[in-house]
Amino acid sequence: MNKPKTLRVRAHAKINLHLNVVGKREDGYHNLETVFHSIDLHDEVILRKGTKTGITVKCDHPRVPSDSQNLAYRAAQSLSDVVGGFGGLEIQIHKRIPVAAGLAGGSANAAAVLYGLNELFALGLSEDVLLKIGAQLGADVPFCLHGGAAFGTGIGDILTPLPALSDVPLVLINPGIAISTADIFKNLDITLTKQKKESIIIQTCVKKGDVVGVGKNLYNLLEVPVFSKYPELTTLKTQLSTQTGCYGALMSGSGATMFALIENIATAQQCESRFKNNVSFCTTTVTNPVGVRIQ
Ligand code: ATP
Repeated sequence: MNKPKTLRVRAHAKINLHLNVVGKREDGYHNLETVFHSIDLHDEVILRKGTKTGITVKCDHPRVPSDSQNLAYRAAQSLSDVVGGFGGLEIQIHKRIPVAAGLAGGSANAAAVLYGLNELFALGLSEDVLLKIGAQLGADVPFCLHGGAAFGTGIGDILTPLPALSDVPLVLINPGIAISTADIFKNLDITLTKQKKESIIIQTCVKKGDVVGVGKNLYNLLEVPVFSKYPELTTLKTQLSTQTGCYGALMSGSGATMFALIENIATAQQCESRFKNNVSFCTTTVTNPVGVRIQ
């Protein structure tokens, strides 16, 4: 049987159900406590064995680089370095995840490349090896590889698995504000990190599959600096939180995407239709059990 020359991989976005910054490290990064969850919203990453050596990237989003700056390119290069090269490769990315939106789109693409190339070139690398390569590319890459639900510590790269919530409906809204994660952390008021907010309650709710409890205990410390810079996000969060059937609303990661957990899909779609003409991105999705999947 001929080995496949092309592989299509779904690269799923993530949300943070809890995000607390617990201190600043000597290397300039911050230690976090976070509860990640994969969602169905995904980019499509197509990997093709190339005829020429070298890596090429094509992406249909104007704000995503198509050169060695692309995180998917860097993932392929790192993997190639580890295995001593694998010939030519073309990476094509169809973007559906909003960019610089707190949904880890770039990290998800990198995770899809690591996972997909291991299959395409039959490299036989273990998940542990892929996770280590991923951690060097970005703090969210290990979670995107792992997928489902997990508690993250360190810079978000030390993961403890949690059972994934099954098909919980969500409405995602991004008002068109692109946020640089690095800028938010660089300007973070370190006294905020003294506010002790435990993640244990929300972790217990996730373990029990208690979606109402998850909705009540959503928390993201980064809302403080981001909302003070973009006050319209406070209004958006209030509007979302008071929608019919909403269990709770929160900003994901460093923003600006806001999500609302909604009791069922029909109500979520009604909520989407109320917002979608006034914001640059609005969609209904559900929680997902994996971060990457071969199509
Ligand atoms: P995180 O929450 O992990 O910080 P994010 O969702 O806020 O991620 P991304 O969508 O990953 O942000 O984009 C951050 C930056 O990375 C953008 O400025 C973008 O141009 C750059 N970038 C590089 N490669 C990619 C990629 N494959 N997809 C999206 N953005 C990329």
